[in-house]
Amino acid sequence: MSDEPTTDGPLLGAVEGGGTKFVCAIGQGPHDIREETRFHTEEPGETLSKVLAFFSDYPIEALGVGMFGPLDLSTGSTLKTPKPGWDHVPVRDQLQRGLAVPIGFDTDVNAAALGEQRYGAARNADPCLYVTVGTGVGGGVVIGGQPLHGLMHPELGHVAVPVLPLADGAPDPFPGACPFHGRCLEGLVSGPAIAQRTGRPASELEDDDPVWDLVGRYLGAGLAPAVLLLSPRRVVIGGGVGGRPGLLSTIRVSLKRALAGYVQRDALGPRIDDYVVAPGLGDRAGIAGGFALARVALEAAVDAAPSV
Ligand code: ZN
Repeated sequence: MSDEPTTDGPLLGAVEGGGTKFVCAIGQGPHDIREETRFHTEEPGETLSKVLAFFSDYPIEALGVGMFGPLDLSTGSTLKTPKPGWDHVPVRDQLQRGLAVPIGFDTDVNAAALGEQRYGAARNADPCLYVTVGTGVGGGVVIGGQPLHGLMHPELGHVAVPVLPLADGAPDPFPGACPFHGRCLEGLVSGPAIAQRTGRPASELEDDDPVWDLVGRYLGAGLAPAVLLLSPRRVVIGGGVGGRPGLLSTIRVSLKRALAGYVQRDALGPRIDDYVVAPGLGDRAGIAGGFALARVALEAAVDAAPSV
């Protein structure tokens, strides 16, 4: 199906449900937004009431929700979370009862992955991998036009990575910041891990701080198993840390080094600049992901309907 802007497509609803703010939009897609609102994330009852109130005036045909986690995607609920009041909230069911339209519900990272694939930097790239590096490290995967689910959802941030040398050649002594694994990828390159390593908030570090070279090299090393396992046709790197100038080129070099020439594809050789890329949607990936989830939910509902 086409993702080009049209004037006669179904009217859809999109929600970017973040831990600090919710964004709701109505339109045919991210290029055709008719109405949009945003509000602070309060207690679930109040927040979801605002979501329902916003959409109730419009004849939307499907809704897509990309939601902060952790989530149980089989039930459409939040899991235990540090966000007060949001433990085990059946978000999908509550919205379903209020709106009675097909609902696509997924993690914010999977939603952004789907948004980038349908509308952004990973168009026509399937499978694609979207990695966000910020407060944590998340990896969303789209395969066959659908976000990858399974036992859970992909947790790229917690893969093990080798100990890399510092600039002087000595092995990196940093124990890592992940409470579960210490030196997993997230434990080495998330914003809090960088702050723990350097003693300064990552956002205050200069672009030429030597830590960025190390962060880029760890990200390239951490991407290598994902590239080998998932065989993505494109890798999109987003997030506050992921957007650091110069980081992408370090990641590309490190990924090539980790794969050691084994995968003989131009995408991992002369064309790697087109393979590991920045997001195409910027901070609109979340809401675009909501629209993409709504489209997937609507297509599934049409496919499931009895033919006449
Ligand atoms: Zn971990």
